[in-house]
Amino acid sequence: MATNQAYGAAATGEAGAAGPFLVQTDQTLTDDDARRWLTRPACLGRELRPGDYAMVHRDTGEIRPLRCQRNGCPDCIGVNAFRRSLAVQYVKPSHELTLTTTDLHAAAEPWPQVQDRLRVLRQAAKRDAVALGAFGTYVEQGAKSGMTHAHIVVRDGQRLDFDWLRARLVSAGFAARFTYSALRSDAEFSSYVGKSFGSYATKGYRDDAEDALRLNGGRVGHFSRGFFPVGVRRAEVESLAAWGQTNQPSPWTMRVWS
Ligand SMILES: [Zn+2]
Repeated sequence: MATNQAYGAAATGEAGAAGPFLVQTDQTLTDDDARRWLTRPACLGRELRPGDYAMVHRDTGEIRPLRCQRNGCPDCIGVNAFRRSLAVQYVKPSHELTLTTTDLHAAAEPWPQVQDRLRVLRQAAKRDAVALGAFGTYVEQGAKSGMTHAHIVVRDGQRLDFDWLRARLVSAGFAARFTYSALRSDAEFSSYVGKSFGSYATKGYRDDAEDALRLNGGRVGHFSRGFFPVGVRRAEVESLAAWGQTNQPSPWTMRVWS
């Protein structure tokens, strides 16, 4: 009954499209056949259950289960990392900094160590009245060497005295080798593929999420205070909107699976 309301004859109407047409007034999906329009399974491959939310494409009838969005979900972590890297780009970081270590080769859980050292570095900077800017940090290990290193995007960074930086890095427990460079700010946001956090993190969490989460203390990067002035969630939402760069209303509507 509701089936026919949800997928009416209008489906193959004027456009001649083969897909069903969802009548906007219907609030639930009750058609057994609706499963045919699922373009991916729910997270972890489980069946959609009554009461689950799904997104329905207004024009094509395509149905996608809502993602659970947990970092521990292999179906969601890649998307989470992509959203986070968009948000990182959205706040227009000024510099990128790569820090290396000599003693954390293949360390199982290096984040607490890296975090400690970053804290020491920032304390030293404060003491020396050097403004480092806010950091967004993603930890990696070399595929072959196992060398633990950190890719950092810097917000509101400035030109630094490299001799000072090298000395403070070593005092904090990092290796003397580092790179520090200004990021281009004139790149089109929508064409952003990524440097630093964007490319490394997005790739890392997609290729081997378990490994990336292990190296990063279970989180999609770490951000010092002030990196996301409006909050990370808000930055993600705003950056997604900017990335879409469209004023068209979304063709996706939320429905309850029943
Ligand atoms: Zn999920």
